[in-house]
Amino acid sequence: MYSKIWLSKPHFETDDLDYFKTTMESNWISTVGPNIASFERSIEDVFNKNLKAVALNSGTSAIHLALKMLHIGAGDEVICQTFTFCATVNPILYCGATPIFIESEQETWNMCPVFLEEAIKDRLKINKKPKAIIVVDSYGMPAKWDELLEISNRYEIPIIEDSAEAFGSMYRGRLCGSFGNYSILSFNGNKIITTSSGGALLCKDEQDKERAIYLSTQAKTTSSLYGEVGFNYRMSNVLASLGIEQLKVLNKRIEQRRDNHTKYHSLVSDLNGVKLQQENSSDFYSNFWLNCIITNNPKISKSALIDEFTKQHIEVRPLWFPLHLQDYLKGSLYYGDNFSETLFEKGLCLPSSSNLTNEEFNRIGDVFNSFKK
Ligand SMILES: *Cc1c(COP(=O)(O)O)cnc(C)c1O
Repeated sequence: MYSKIWLSKPHFETDDLDYFKTTMESNWISTVGPNIASFERSIEDVFNKNLKAVALNSGTSAIHLALKMLHIGAGDEVICQTFTFCATVNPILYCGATPIFIESEQETWNMCPVFLEEAIKDRLKINKKPKAIIVVDSYGMPAKWDELLEISNRYEIPIIEDSAEAFGSMYRGRLCGSFGNYSILSFNGNKIITTSSGGALLCKDEQDKERAIYLSTQAKTTSSLYGEVGFNYRMSNVLASLGIEQLKVLNKRIEQRRDNHTKYHSLVSDLNGVKLQQENSSDFYSNFWLNCIITNNPKISKSALIDEFTKQHIEVRPLWFPLHLQDYLKGSLYYGDNFSETLFEKGLCLPSSSNLTNEEFNRIGDVFNSFKK
């Protein structure tokens, strides 16, 4: 019996666990302790100290906090990419605000600048200016940042960059996570580096960072006073110990995932009608967190592939189901051409762990080969 091949498996080394044990023995196991600030400094180093990082307990809470930093509240409208994970949009609802969904363009599968501008113009006509725009770098692929930033600047609407899947990816040589007025990272177990669960808010200056830390630690002002409604969103010192060690191998993990991409390129190159999602030009540098294919061949359909991979104990997953079609979000405003429905119909995410072995790649190749007959 074969062991299961997972979509995106955590990848630890013994050093990570040694430091984790030392931290447990130090007794600093809550959301206070030296590792948290040290992990934040290491994240800031990745961004050449151009940004400030706040370590939090998840990427989802980082998005919620970003919205709070922008004073989003009940009755506000926030623009959001529809082709993404539910964690991108849910924090908008936590704030009592209303999401407006934007379709993706066909090159990066991220927010389409044309539909974005159409939505903004449309809302401005009735004097309802959206308060923020949440853009995702899906599956590690950077969005079309030049166009999106130009619109954000022209209409003076801040961007929150959901870079949960794109740590280490770059657009025109600039790191994802540096494009938003606020940006977020996730260190959940399936991401490129992990603290088991965890996330970070990236902001522009020390003042922002201090306010985000304050809000994430119950808005405590003195030992018995609280300034406002706060949150319990800080990362624990124990998990920060994992983050410190994981950050040291970030570049290695990117190489390994990009290497997977090269291997997939040859695996699917002679499969008729099957296309691997790729960087569209040298402007885009993806960490290839997940590799995705689109199949236009009815003989190699998404469901046939899922059946065969599942039979071989290989985890694959459909691409995101568009958020504006989720039951609980139906009726939301949507601007687009339904491209994400096609992505969902025809697309599949393939196993992309950084510790994927050659033997496992051969098993994946065997499944593809069985469709060539
Ligand atoms: C993982 C993920 C998140 C949320 O991160 P958590 O740490 O799991 O809360 C948000 N957005 C996207 C696109 C993600 O993939």
